[in-house]
Amino acid sequence: MKRWVRHPLVLGLAGTAVLFVGLAGYGFRTLEHAFERSARITQDTTQRIEVTLKLQKLLQRAALPVHHYHIDGHSEQRMHFRMLAGEINGTLSETLSVRSGSRPQDFAAIASSWRDLQGEITALLALPDPNAMGLRVIHARIHALDEEVRALSDRVGALHDADRIRTQEQLADAARWNRTLTVLVTAAFLVTVLSLMLGAAMMIHSQATLRDLSMRDALTGLFNRREFQARLRRQVELARRQGGSCAVLLLDVDHFKAVNDTYGHEVGDLVLRELAEVVCREVRRADLVARFGGEELVVLLPHTDKATAVSVGQRVQQAVAGHPAFVVPGGAQLTVTVSVGVAAFPADAPVEEALLRVADQAMYAAKRAGRNQVTWQGA
Ligand code: GH3
Ligand code: MG
Ligand code: MG
Repeated sequence: MKRWVRHPLVLGLAGTAVLFVGLAGYGFRTLEHAFERSARITQDTTQRIEVTLKLQKLLQRAALPVHHYHIDGHSEQRMHFRMLAGEINGTLSETLSVRSGSRPQDFAAIASSWRDLQGEITALLALPDPNAMGLRVIHARIHALDEEVRALSDRVGALHDADRIRTQEQLADAARWNRTLTVLVTAAFLVTVLSLMLGAAMMIHSQATLRDLSMRDALTGLFNRREFQARLRRQVELARRQGGSCAVLLLDVDHFKAVNDTYGHEVGDLVLRELAEVVCREVRRADLVARFGGEELVVLLPHTDKATAVSVGQRVQQAVAGHPAFVVPGGAQLTVTVSVGVAAFPADAPVEEALLRVADQAMYAAKRAGRNQVTWQGA
Protein backbone atom coordinates (compact mmCIF):
# COMPACT_ATOMS: atom_id res chain seq x y z
CA MET A 1 0.00 0.00 0.00
CA LYS A 2 1.21 3.51 -0.80
CA ARG A 3 2.50 5.43 2.21
CA TRP A 4 0.97 8.77 1.19
CA VAL A 5 -2.51 7.21 1.16
CA ARG A 6 -2.10 5.76 4.59
CA HIS A 7 -0.72 8.93 6.18
CA PRO A 8 -3.72 11.27 5.81
CA LEU A 9 -5.95 8.56 7.27
CA VAL A 10 -3.67 8.00 10.24
CA LEU A 11 -3.30 11.76 10.73
CA GLY A 12 -7.06 12.22 10.50
CA LEU A 13 -7.65 9.52 13.08
CA ALA A 14 -5.02 10.87 15.41
CA GLY A 15 -6.43 14.40 14.98
CA THR A 16 -9.94 13.21 15.83
CA ALA A 17 -8.66 11.33 18.85
CA VAL A 18 -6.71 14.34 20.14
CA LEU A 19 -9.65 16.70 19.54
CA PHE A 20 -12.18 14.55 21.33
CA VAL A 21 -9.85 13.52 24.15
CA GLY A 22 -9.26 17.28 24.65
CA LEU A 23 -13.00 17.94 24.66
CA ALA A 24 -13.67 15.08 27.06
CA GLY A 25 -10.83 16.27 29.31
CA TYR A 26 -12.27 19.78 29.34
CA GLY A 27 -15.72 18.35 30.09
CA PHE A 28 -14.46 16.25 32.99
CA ARG A 29 -12.64 19.26 34.46
CA THR A 30 -15.77 21.41 34.19
CA LEU A 31 -17.75 18.62 35.82
CA GLU A 32 -15.24 18.46 38.65
CA HIS A 33 -15.56 22.23 39.16
CA ALA A 34 -19.36 21.95 39.18
CA PHE A 35 -19.22 19.27 41.89
CA GLU A 36 -16.79 21.40 43.88
CA ARG A 37 -19.22 24.30 43.58
CA SER A 38 -22.07 22.19 45.00
CA ALA A 39 -19.87 21.07 47.86
CA ARG A 40 -18.92 24.70 48.58
CA ILE A 41 -22.58 25.78 48.62
CA THR A 42 -23.37 23.01 51.11
CA GLN A 43 -20.39 23.89 53.29
CA ASP A 44 -21.13 27.66 53.31
CA THR A 45 -24.78 27.08 54.09
CA THR A 46 -24.05 24.67 56.91
CA GLN A 47 -21.70 27.22 58.44
CA ARG A 48 -24.24 30.06 58.07
CA ILE A 49 -27.11 27.99 59.44
CA GLU A 50 -25.03 26.84 62.42
CA VAL A 51 -24.10 30.40 63.35
CA THR A 52 -27.68 31.63 62.86
CA LEU A 53 -29.09 28.86 65.04
CA LYS A 54 -26.51 29.56 67.74
CA LEU A 55 -27.46 33.26 67.67
CA GLN A 56 -31.14 32.41 67.91
CA LYS A 57 -30.53 30.13 70.90
CA LEU A 58 -28.37 32.74 72.69
CA LEU A 59 -30.99 35.47 72.11
CA GLN A 60 -33.68 33.23 73.56
CA ARG A 61 -31.60 33.11 76.77
CA ALA A 62 -30.96 36.88 76.86
CA ALA A 63 -33.85 37.75 79.22
CA LEU A 64 -33.14 34.94 81.69
CA PRO A 65 -30.71 36.89 83.96
CA VAL A 66 -33.35 39.63 84.38
CA HIS A 67 -35.96 37.03 85.43
CA HIS A 68 -33.55 35.46 87.92
CA TYR A 69 -32.48 38.84 89.26
CA HIS A 70 -36.09 39.75 89.79
CA ILE A 71 -36.66 36.48 91.68
CA ASP A 72 -33.46 36.17 93.78
CA GLY A 73 -31.89 39.65 93.58
CA HIS A 74 -28.38 38.14 93.20
CA SER A 75 -25.99 40.64 91.67
CA GLU A 76 -24.05 37.81 89.97
CA GLN A 77 -26.86 37.79 87.36
CA ARG A 78 -25.22 40.95 86.02
CA MET A 79 -22.09 38.97 85.38
CA HIS A 80 -24.09 36.15 83.76
CA PHE A 81 -25.67 38.67 81.44
CA ARG A 82 -22.34 40.27 80.63
CA MET A 83 -20.97 36.86 79.62
CA LEU A 84 -24.09 36.07 77.61
CA ALA A 85 -23.99 39.48 75.92
CA GLY A 86 -20.33 38.93 75.09
CA GLU A 87 -21.21 35.62 73.45
CA ILE A 88 -24.09 37.22 71.52
CA ASN A 89 -21.86 40.07 70.30
CA GLY A 90 -19.18 37.56 69.23
CA THR A 91 -21.77 35.43 67.37
CA LEU A 92 -23.22 38.53 65.71
CA SER A 93 -19.85 39.57 64.31
CA GLU A 94 -19.26 35.95 63.24
CA THR A 95 -22.66 36.02 61.50
CA LEU A 96 -21.79 39.23 59.68
CA SER A 97 -18.48 37.75 58.55
CA VAL A 98 -20.00 34.52 57.17
CA ARG A 99 -22.84 36.18 55.32
CA SER A 100 -20.93 38.58 53.19
CA GLY A 101 -23.23 37.89 50.19
CA SER A 102 -26.47 36.98 51.92
CA ARG A 103 -28.61 39.87 53.26
CA PRO A 104 -25.96 41.35 55.62
CA GLN A 105 -28.20 44.45 56.06
CA ASP A 106 -30.81 42.32 57.89
CA PHE A 107 -28.21 41.24 60.40
CA ALA A 108 -26.91 44.76 60.76
CA ALA A 109 -30.49 45.78 61.73
CA ILE A 110 -30.69 42.85 64.15
CA ALA A 111 -27.35 43.89 65.65
CA SER A 112 -28.66 47.42 66.15
CA SER A 113 -31.90 46.16 67.81
CA TRP A 114 -29.77 43.92 70.00
CA ARG A 115 -27.69 46.93 71.14
CA ASP A 116 -30.90 48.70 72.26
CA LEU A 117 -32.10 45.59 74.02
CA GLN A 118 -28.74 45.12 75.69
CA GLY A 119 -29.04 48.69 77.03
CA GLU A 120 -32.50 47.99 78.46
CA ILE A 121 -31.44 44.74 80.11
CA THR A 122 -28.30 46.33 81.55
CA ALA A 123 -30.47 49.13 82.96
CA LEU A 124 -32.85 46.64 84.59
CA LEU A 125 -29.96 44.68 86.07
CA ALA A 126 -28.43 47.92 87.35
CA LEU A 127 -31.40 48.60 89.68
CA PRO A 128 -30.14 48.14 93.28
CA ASP A 129 -33.45 46.54 94.34
CA PRO A 130 -35.38 45.06 91.44
CA ASN A 131 -38.65 45.19 93.34
CA ALA A 132 -38.28 48.82 94.36
CA MET A 133 -39.94 49.96 91.15
CA GLY A 134 -43.12 48.23 92.19
CA LEU A 135 -44.21 44.75 91.13
CA ARG A 136 -46.55 45.82 88.30
CA VAL A 137 -44.02 48.12 86.70
CA ILE A 138 -41.21 45.58 86.80
CA HIS A 139 -43.51 42.80 85.50
CA ALA A 140 -44.62 45.02 82.65
CA ARG A 141 -41.02 45.84 81.76
CA ILE A 142 -39.87 42.23 81.96
CA HIS A 143 -42.85 41.18 79.90
CA ALA A 144 -42.05 43.82 77.28
CA LEU A 145 -38.43 42.68 77.34
CA ASP A 146 -39.50 39.07 76.75
CA GLU A 147 -41.58 40.18 73.81
CA GLU A 148 -38.67 42.09 72.31
CA VAL A 149 -36.30 39.17 72.79
CA ARG A 150 -38.83 36.81 71.18
CA ALA A 151 -39.38 39.20 68.28
CA LEU A 152 -35.63 39.48 67.73
CA SER A 153 -35.22 35.73 67.89
CA ASP A 154 -38.10 35.33 65.40
CA ARG A 155 -36.40 37.73 63.00
CA VAL A 156 -33.24 35.63 63.18
CA GLY A 157 -35.42 32.51 62.67
CA ALA A 158 -37.04 34.06 59.58
CA LEU A 159 -33.61 34.74 58.11
CA HIS A 160 -32.64 31.18 58.89
CA ASP A 161 -35.72 29.91 56.98
CA ALA A 162 -34.96 32.19 54.05
CA ASP A 163 -31.42 30.79 54.03
CA ARG A 164 -32.67 27.24 54.00
CA ILE A 165 -35.01 27.88 51.05
CA ARG A 166 -32.37 29.76 49.11
CA THR A 167 -29.86 26.98 49.69
CA GLN A 168 -32.31 24.34 48.55
CA GLU A 169 -32.85 26.32 45.35
CA GLN A 170 -29.11 26.72 44.82
CA LEU A 171 -28.52 23.02 45.38
CA ALA A 172 -31.35 22.05 43.00
CA ASP A 173 -29.81 24.41 40.45
CA ALA A 174 -26.37 22.90 40.92
CA ALA A 175 -27.80 19.38 40.64
CA ARG A 176 -29.50 20.29 37.34
CA TRP A 177 -26.26 21.79 36.03
CA ASN A 178 -24.30 18.71 37.13
CA ARG A 179 -26.78 16.41 35.39
CA THR A 180 -26.53 18.41 32.14
CA LEU A 181 -22.75 18.36 32.32
CA THR A 182 -22.69 14.63 33.01
CA VAL A 183 -24.84 14.03 29.93
CA LEU A 184 -22.59 16.29 27.82
CA VAL A 185 -19.37 14.68 29.01
CA THR A 186 -20.79 11.18 28.49
CA ALA A 187 -21.96 12.19 25.00
CA ALA A 188 -18.52 13.61 24.18
CA PHE A 189 -16.93 10.38 25.40
CA LEU A 190 -19.32 8.24 23.31
CA VAL A 191 -18.74 10.42 20.24
CA THR A 192 -14.98 9.98 20.77
CA VAL A 193 -15.28 6.22 20.95
CA LEU A 194 -17.69 6.07 18.00
CA SER A 195 -15.61 8.33 15.79
CA LEU A 196 -12.49 6.34 16.60
CA MET A 197 -14.33 3.12 15.75
CA LEU A 198 -15.67 4.69 12.56
CA GLY A 199 -12.20 5.96 11.63
CA ALA A 200 -10.70 2.53 12.29
CA ALA A 201 -13.43 0.88 10.20
CA MET A 202 -12.85 3.39 7.37
CA MET A 203 -9.14 2.73 7.53
CA ILE A 204 -9.60 -1.04 7.42
CA HIS A 205 -12.05 -0.64 4.56
CA SER A 206 -9.80 1.66 2.54
CA GLN A 207 -6.83 -0.62 3.19
CA ALA A 208 -8.85 -3.55 1.87
CA THR A 209 -9.97 -1.47 -1.14
CA LEU A 210 -6.41 -0.41 -1.88
CA ARG A 211 -5.16 -3.98 -1.51
CA ASP A 212 -7.85 -5.11 -3.93
CA LEU A 213 -7.05 -2.28 -6.36
CA SER A 214 -3.37 -3.15 -6.31
CA MET A 215 -4.26 -6.66 -7.52
CA ARG A 216 -6.48 -5.54 -10.37
CA ASP A 217 -6.27 -4.15 -13.84
CA ALA A 218 -7.96 -0.76 -14.15
CA LEU A 219 -9.56 -1.28 -17.57
CA THR A 220 -11.15 -4.71 -17.21
CA GLY A 221 -11.29 -5.16 -13.41
CA LEU A 222 -9.56 -8.53 -13.88
CA PHE A 223 -6.57 -9.57 -11.77
CA ASN A 224 -3.32 -8.09 -13.07
CA ARG A 225 -0.26 -9.94 -14.27
CA ARG A 226 1.62 -9.67 -10.95
CA GLU A 227 -1.27 -11.15 -8.97
CA PHE A 228 -1.76 -13.83 -11.60
CA GLN A 229 1.87 -14.89 -11.43
CA ALA A 230 1.82 -15.03 -7.62
CA ARG A 231 -1.30 -17.20 -7.64
CA LEU A 232 0.02 -19.41 -10.41
CA ARG A 233 3.19 -19.98 -8.38
CA ARG A 234 1.12 -21.03 -5.35
CA GLN A 235 -1.09 -23.27 -7.49
CA VAL A 236 1.89 -25.04 -9.10
CA GLU A 237 3.40 -25.56 -5.62
CA LEU A 238 0.13 -27.00 -4.34
CA ALA A 239 -0.24 -29.31 -7.34
CA ARG A 240 3.35 -30.47 -6.87
CA ARG A 241 2.76 -31.25 -3.16
CA GLN A 242 -0.53 -32.99 -3.79
CA GLY A 243 0.62 -34.78 -6.93
CA GLY A 244 -2.18 -33.02 -8.84
CA SER A 245 -2.29 -30.82 -11.92
CA CYS A 246 -3.17 -27.31 -13.08
CA ALA A 247 -3.23 -25.50 -16.40
CA VAL A 248 -3.08 -22.09 -18.05
CA LEU A 249 -4.80 -20.69 -21.12
CA LEU A 250 -3.17 -17.74 -22.87
CA LEU A 251 -5.56 -15.80 -25.12
CA ASP A 252 -4.53 -13.18 -27.64
CA VAL A 253 -7.07 -11.22 -29.66
CA ASP A 254 -6.63 -11.75 -33.39
CA HIS A 255 -5.88 -8.68 -35.47
CA PHE A 256 -6.69 -6.38 -32.62
CA LYS A 257 -4.64 -3.62 -34.10
CA ALA A 258 -7.16 -3.52 -36.95
CA VAL A 259 -9.99 -3.01 -34.42
CA ASN A 260 -8.16 -0.02 -32.99
CA ASP A 261 -7.30 1.29 -36.42
CA THR A 262 -10.86 0.95 -37.72
CA TYR A 263 -12.93 2.00 -34.73
CA GLY A 264 -10.52 3.89 -32.54
CA HIS A 265 -8.80 3.13 -29.27
CA GLU A 266 -11.91 3.75 -27.15
CA VAL A 267 -13.88 1.08 -28.97
CA GLY A 268 -10.84 -1.18 -28.60
CA ASP A 269 -11.06 -0.63 -24.84
CA LEU A 270 -14.78 -1.48 -24.80
CA VAL A 271 -14.07 -4.67 -26.74
CA LEU A 272 -11.40 -5.68 -24.22
CA ARG A 273 -13.82 -5.11 -21.36
CA GLU A 274 -16.55 -7.14 -22.98
CA LEU A 275 -14.08 -9.87 -23.88
CA ALA A 276 -13.15 -10.13 -20.19
CA GLU A 277 -16.84 -10.66 -19.33
CA VAL A 278 -17.33 -13.32 -21.99
CA VAL A 279 -14.26 -15.24 -20.80
CA CYS A 280 -15.29 -15.03 -17.13
CA ARG A 281 -18.74 -16.41 -18.01
CA GLU A 282 -17.19 -19.48 -19.65
CA VAL A 283 -14.96 -20.60 -16.79
CA ARG A 284 -15.62 -21.95 -13.27
CA ARG A 285 -15.68 -19.71 -10.20
CA ALA A 286 -12.51 -21.35 -8.97
CA ASP A 287 -10.66 -20.41 -12.18
CA LEU A 288 -8.80 -17.14 -12.26
CA VAL A 289 -8.94 -14.78 -15.24
CA ALA A 290 -6.30 -12.05 -15.51
CA ARG A 291 -5.11 -9.47 -18.02
CA PHE A 292 -1.66 -10.54 -19.00
CA GLY A 293 -0.91 -7.38 -20.95
CA GLY A 294 -2.21 -5.42 -23.99
CA GLU A 295 -4.87 -7.57 -25.64
CA GLU A 296 -3.77 -10.78 -23.95
CA LEU A 297 -5.78 -12.52 -21.25
CA VAL A 298 -4.70 -15.50 -19.21
CA VAL A 299 -6.73 -18.08 -17.29
CA LEU A 300 -5.50 -20.23 -14.42
CA LEU A 301 -7.35 -23.52 -14.12
CA PRO A 302 -6.60 -25.19 -10.76
CA HIS A 303 -6.86 -28.99 -10.43
CA THR A 304 -7.17 -29.35 -14.20
CA ASP A 305 -5.31 -31.76 -16.48
CA LYS A 306 -4.16 -30.97 -20.01
CA ALA A 307 -7.07 -32.63 -21.86
CA THR A 308 -9.66 -30.78 -19.76
CA ALA A 309 -7.74 -27.52 -20.19
CA VAL A 310 -7.80 -27.96 -23.97
CA SER A 311 -11.56 -28.43 -23.95
CA VAL A 312 -12.06 -25.39 -21.68
CA GLY A 313 -9.81 -23.42 -24.08
CA GLN A 314 -11.92 -24.50 -27.04
CA ARG A 315 -15.11 -23.60 -25.23
CA VAL A 316 -13.77 -20.11 -24.50
CA GLN A 317 -12.45 -19.62 -28.05
CA GLN A 318 -15.83 -20.63 -29.52
CA ALA A 319 -17.75 -18.45 -27.07
CA VAL A 320 -15.72 -15.41 -28.13
CA ALA A 321 -16.09 -16.19 -31.82
CA GLY A 322 -19.82 -16.74 -31.40
CA HIS A 323 -20.40 -13.65 -29.27
CA PRO A 324 -23.14 -11.79 -31.19
CA ALA A 325 -21.99 -8.20 -31.02
CA PHE A 326 -19.20 -6.44 -29.25
CA VAL A 327 -20.41 -2.95 -28.49
CA VAL A 328 -19.68 -0.59 -31.32
CA PRO A 329 -21.18 2.88 -31.33
CA GLY A 330 -23.03 3.48 -34.61
CA GLY A 331 -24.48 -0.01 -34.68
CA ALA A 332 -21.83 -1.76 -36.78
CA GLN A 333 -21.49 -5.48 -36.06
CA LEU A 334 -18.08 -6.37 -34.73
CA THR A 335 -16.84 -9.79 -33.88
CA VAL A 336 -13.42 -10.70 -32.64
CA THR A 337 -11.66 -13.97 -32.33
CA VAL A 338 -8.91 -15.20 -30.07
CA SER A 339 -6.01 -17.57 -30.50
CA VAL A 340 -5.45 -19.72 -27.41
CA GLY A 341 -2.36 -21.53 -26.21
CA VAL A 342 -2.72 -24.22 -23.54
CA ALA A 343 -0.06 -25.52 -21.14
CA ALA A 344 -0.48 -27.83 -18.16
CA PHE A 345 1.53 -28.77 -15.07
CA PRO A 346 3.14 -31.26 -14.84
CA ALA A 347 2.60 -32.49 -18.42
CA ASP A 348 4.27 -29.52 -20.19
CA ALA A 349 6.59 -27.86 -17.65
CA PRO A 350 7.80 -28.29 -14.04
CA VAL A 351 7.70 -24.57 -12.99
CA GLU A 352 5.40 -21.64 -13.63
CA GLU A 353 7.74 -19.54 -15.82
CA ALA A 354 8.27 -22.46 -18.15
CA LEU A 355 4.55 -23.16 -18.13
CA LEU A 356 3.82 -19.62 -19.35
CA ARG A 357 6.50 -19.90 -22.00
CA VAL A 358 4.97 -23.12 -23.32
CA ALA A 359 1.49 -21.49 -23.38
CA ASP A 360 2.93 -18.50 -25.25
CA GLN A 361 4.59 -20.73 -27.84
CA ALA A 362 1.35 -22.66 -28.27
CA MET A 363 -0.57 -19.41 -28.74
CA TYR A 364 1.83 -18.29 -31.46
CA ALA A 365 1.47 -21.70 -33.08
CA ALA A 366 -2.31 -21.06 -33.18
CA LYS A 367 -1.63 -17.69 -34.86
CA ARG A 368 0.56 -19.32 -37.43
CA ALA A 369 -2.01 -22.02 -38.03
CA GLY A 370 -4.57 -19.37 -39.03
CA ARG A 371 -5.86 -17.83 -35.73
CA ASN A 372 -9.23 -18.38 -34.00
CA GLN A 373 -8.18 -21.75 -32.64
CA VAL A 374 -6.64 -23.54 -29.68
CA THR A 375 -3.20 -25.13 -29.76
CA TRP A 376 -0.99 -26.96 -27.26
CA GLN A 377 2.40 -28.63 -27.17
CA GLY A 378 2.23 -31.91 -29.06
CA ALA A 379 -1.09 -31.12 -30.67
P1 GH3 B 1 -2.41 -10.68 -33.89
O1 GH3 B 1 -3.58 -11.38 -34.45
O2 GH3 B 1 -1.12 -11.14 -34.54
O3 GH3 B 1 -2.31 -10.74 -32.44
O4 GH3 B 1 -2.57 -9.19 -34.34
P2 GH3 B 1 -2.74 -7.98 -33.40
O5 GH3 B 1 -3.11 -6.80 -34.21
O6 GH3 B 1 -3.68 -8.29 -32.30
O7 GH3 B 1 -1.33 -7.88 -32.78
P3 GH3 B 1 -0.45 -6.67 -32.38
O8 GH3 B 1 0.45 -7.15 -31.29
O9 GH3 B 1 0.23 -6.15 -33.62
O10 GH3 B 1 -1.38 -5.59 -31.84
C1 GH3 B 1 -1.91 -5.59 -30.59
C2 GH3 B 1 -2.71 -4.34 -30.44
O11 GH3 B 1 -3.40 -4.31 -29.21
C3 GH3 B 1 -1.84 -3.13 -30.53
C4 GH3 B 1 -2.24 -2.30 -29.36
O12 GH3 B 1 -2.51 -0.96 -29.71
C5 GH3 B 1 -3.53 -2.95 -28.89
N1 GH3 B 1 -3.70 -2.76 -27.50
C6 GH3 B 1 -2.92 -3.22 -26.53
N2 GH3 B 1 -3.44 -2.81 -25.31
C7 GH3 B 1 -4.56 -2.11 -25.58
C8 GH3 B 1 -5.52 -1.44 -24.77
O13 GH3 B 1 -5.45 -1.40 -23.56
N3 GH3 B 1 -6.57 -0.83 -25.41
C9 GH3 B 1 -6.68 -0.85 -26.74
N4 GH3 B 1 -7.72 -0.24 -27.28
N5 GH3 B 1 -5.77 -1.44 -27.50
C10 GH3 B 1 -4.74 -2.08 -26.94
MG1 MG C 1 -0.64 -9.56 -28.53
MG1 MG D 1 -3.31 -9.86 -31.03
